[in-house]
Amino acid sequence: MKTALVNAFRATFGRAPEIIARAPGRIEFIGNHTDYNGGTVLGAAIDRGVWVALAKRADGQRRFASDQREGVVALSSDGLARQAGAQSWVNYPLGVLAALPVFSLRVPAGFDYFAMSDLPTGAGLSSSAAIELASGLVFLAATHQTPSRETLVNVGQYAENHFVGVPCGILDQGVSGFGRRDHLVQIDCRGPRFSTVPLPAGAHCWIFNTHTKHALVDGLYAARHGECMLAAKTLGVVLLVEATPATVLAAEHTLAPAPFKRARHVVEEISRVEQAGAALRAGDLATVGTLLTASHRSSQALFENSTAELDFLVDHLVATPPVWGARLTGGGFGGAVMALTSGDFGDTQAKAVAAAYEKKFGAWPDVLPVETGDGAALVAV
Ligand code: ADP
Ligand code: MG
Repeated sequence: MKTALVNAFRATFGRAPEIIARAPGRIEFIGNHTDYNGGTVLGAAIDRGVWVALAKRADGQRRFASDQREGVVALSSDGLARQAGAQSWVNYPLGVLAALPVFSLRVPAGFDYFAMSDLPTGAGLSSSAAIELASGLVFLAATHQTPSRETLVNVGQYAENHFVGVPCGILDQGVSGFGRRDHLVQIDCRGPRFSTVPLPAGAHCWIFNTHTKHALVDGLYAARHGECMLAAKTLGVVLLVEATPATVLAAEHTLAPAPFKRARHVVEEISRVEQAGAALRAGDLATVGTLLTASHRSSQALFENSTAELDFLVDHLVATPPVWGARLTGGGFGGAVMALTSGDFGDTQAKAVAAAYEKKFGAWPDVLPVETGDGAALVAV
C-alpha cells in the first residue's frame, strides 16, 4: 500500500511525499445505540484503512487528490469553504483543518495531499473517521505538533460533526484512534474513556454489507434518540446509563410502549457489553457469540432498527456451525451484519450465506473478512 501511495503521489505531484499516516476503519462489535445514552461500546479497528501522504508547498496552495476521485482539487490556504459535488470528499481533510484551531493547534499552510484507501466507503466501516484521523496526523506532523490520541480523536469527531455535518458519536474516531491489533477498544462514552480488551486467538470477524438503507433513516435515528431521552426523563435520570434493567422493567406501565422498548434495549445492551468484556477476558468466545446474537434480537424486537435483510443474514449465519454469533453493526435500518466465527468459517460458508441472500433479495451482499489492526499512526516514509 505504501509503495502504491508513494508512486501515486509522485505521478500526481512530480515529487516524493514527506509525511505518511494511516488510520484504520472499524467495526461496532457490540453496543448498539448505547453511545448517546452514556453507555459503553466495544469496537475493533480493522486491517483496512485510509493512507494519506503529504508534502509541504511554499506557495500557500493546498492540492488534494485521492485514488477514488479524478483530478486534483486546488484551493488557496486563505479560506476554508465547504466544497460541493464531486469535490465534496475534500470536506473531510478541510474539516480537520477547520477543527485544529478549536483545539488550540496550528494549521499547515500550503501542501500537496494524496489519500489512498483499501477500505470500502459507505460500507459502515467508517472510512470517514479513517480519512479524518490520517489527515489529522499528517497535518500535525507537518506543523511539528504531537498531541495525544484523545485530541486527535476529538479533532476528527469535531470535523465530522461541525464541518461535514454528520452527528456521529465517539465510536468511529475513538476506535480508529485507539485500535490495537488482536484487541477490541472499549469506550465508556461518559468520559469518554478508552481502553482495550484482548480478542482471544482464533476469533475472526466477517462483514456482510447489504447496501440497503432505509429511506427515512435520519428521521428514524432522531425518533429513537427522542424516545430514549423521554424514557430517561420519565425514569428521573439524565441518561439511560443511570437506569438498570430492573428499574426499566419496573416502569413498564409508567412508560409509553415505544420508550419502554427502547429503554429496555439500551440498559440490557449496556449490560451485554459488560458481559461481553468479561467473556472476552475469559477467552469464552461461545458466550461472546451468544451475546452478539442476543444484541441483534434486541435490536430486532425492542429497538426496532433491524430490517428483513439484516435479520435474514443473522438467521442464516447463526445456523452455520463455525459462527459464534452475528448482529447488525452500526446504526441499523439497513447496512451491514457482522459475524464472529472460528477459523473454520471460510469462503465456502460465506458464499452459501450470500447465495441464499441473493435468492431471497435478488442482490449479492458484499462479503468481507476482516482482522483486527492497529490504530491511527504515522508511517515511516
Ligand atoms: P463510511 O464512513 O461508512 O465509510 P461515510 O459516508 O461516513 O461512510 O464516509 C464516506 C466518505 O468519506 C466518502 O464518500 C468520501 O467522501 C470520504 N472518503 C473516505 N475515504 C476516502 C478516500 N480514500 N478518498 C476520498 N474520499 C474518501
Ligand atoms: Mg462515516
